[in-house]
Amino acid sequence: MLDIRTMLGADALLQLCCAGGLWAIGRQVAGLSGLRWFQWAYVCTALGLGCACAYGPESGHALFGARCLVMASAVLMTQGVAEYVASSANLLPWGGGFLLLFAVLDSSVDTSLPTNAAATVFCLFFAAQLLIGVLVLQAHKDAEERFTARAAAWMMGATALLCVVRAVVSPWRTVPTNPMANDPLRFAGLTVFMVFSAAMAFGFIGMATMRLQRQLETEARTDALTGLLNRRALEQAAPAVLAACRKRGTSLAVLALDLDGFKWINDTHGHDGGDAVLCAAAQVLSQGLRDSDLLARVGGEEFVVMLPTRGARAAFEVAERLRTRLEGLTIQHEGRPIMVTASFGVAALGNADSSWGELFRRADRWLYLAKHSGRNCTRGEGDPSNPAGEPAPMAGAPEARRGPVAPRLASRTT
Ligand code: GH3
Ligand code: MG
Ligand code: MG
Repeated sequence: MLDIRTMLGADALLQLCCAGGLWAIGRQVAGLSGLRWFQWAYVCTALGLGCACAYGPESGHALFGARCLVMASAVLMTQGVAEYVASSANLLPWGGGFLLLFAVLDSSVDTSLPTNAAATVFCLFFAAQLLIGVLVLQAHKDAEERFTARAAAWMMGATALLCVVRAVVSPWRTVPTNPMANDPLRFAGLTVFMVFSAAMAFGFIGMATMRLQRQLETEARTDALTGLLNRRALEQAAPAVLAACRKRGTSLAVLALDLDGFKWINDTHGHDGGDAVLCAAAQVLSQGLRDSDLLARVGGEEFVVMLPTRGARAAFEVAERLRTRLEGLTIQHEGRPIMVTASFGVAALGNADSSWGELFRRADRWLYLAKHSGRNCTRGEGDPSNPAGEPAPMAGAPEARRGPVAPRLASRTT
């Protein structure tokens, strides 16, 4: 059996490795909430154990400092967990008070007693601090992160339970007063502590990487300027939405829309002005839709809306409503008003549509026609003025889209 001092040294090294691993991960990827606290928690434990190992039983002060450092590590872990669950959470003042109370109690315990009362006090405080972390993690409601949060909570809970067992057993045993003397319970306690603290490090890394993975997934699906879905997200979601509508036998419509004369807006008001228009238009569009509708920015000033459960006529009405709202929008940019209009194309799912791509292309061709018809208008299926539904133009559309911007638009954007 290794002696306790060697065990303490090995444990300190392991803690340093965990801290190094957490530091390396945190350095590579910014924004992992809570990770920095875990990293410092492991540094504290390593220092505490290293202190105990280096100075030995002859220095009561060193052992007191070591216990305080390991307690501080539990405080930091709890803060890490709290920050992970709610990024603005600050449990440090509370933890600091708890640490102070521990220090006062610990220094008043007679460590020469054979009942090892100091170990009991330490284990109870350490367990209490970890249990707070467990409660914080258990309260984490996010469904997708529940598994990793629960796994980390179990690791912390198990470590806390071991501390409680140790606290309960210690007073009943007569142990050598020299804390470095070889004792099976101390040896087992340190071994288990090593295993569980390494497991907790993996739990924290798991939690943080799961959060990071979700952040990256969200970013990959989101248009950075407007916060809407991007083209990739739409392409991913659309086939499933279409399949669900087909399965339920409900209708589905698609709107393709493009802001009119946007190049002119950019040229007149600068790129910032154009960006402000895009953001304002995105807001107007999303405010005019249901939660179940899908709105995506698929290109510079091009948007697509999927309207599940709505047929051609209802979709055409939605398009007209959105178009009118955009027409009434005035964006103030650097003290100058900017006005914008948009052209809309509408297509509704028919029996002949075999794929999302087909439906989308039809809406896009109607949009070309709307551009060709003078802009700031809606063309497509469900048009009450064209109940027969003239077919969407199949050829020549790109030319139509490149048609000149109506001069009245320029005069409106003063
Ligand atoms: P039309 O009425 O035919 O649609 O004319 P348009 O000027 O709106 O269309 P065009 O395709 O000629 O110009 C689109 C412009 O959108 C060109 C491009 O520089 C600009 N654009 C693309 N992405 C962004 C963006 O993220 N921000 C800004 N401000 N402009 C963008
Ligand atoms: Mg345009
Ligand atoms: Mg365009």
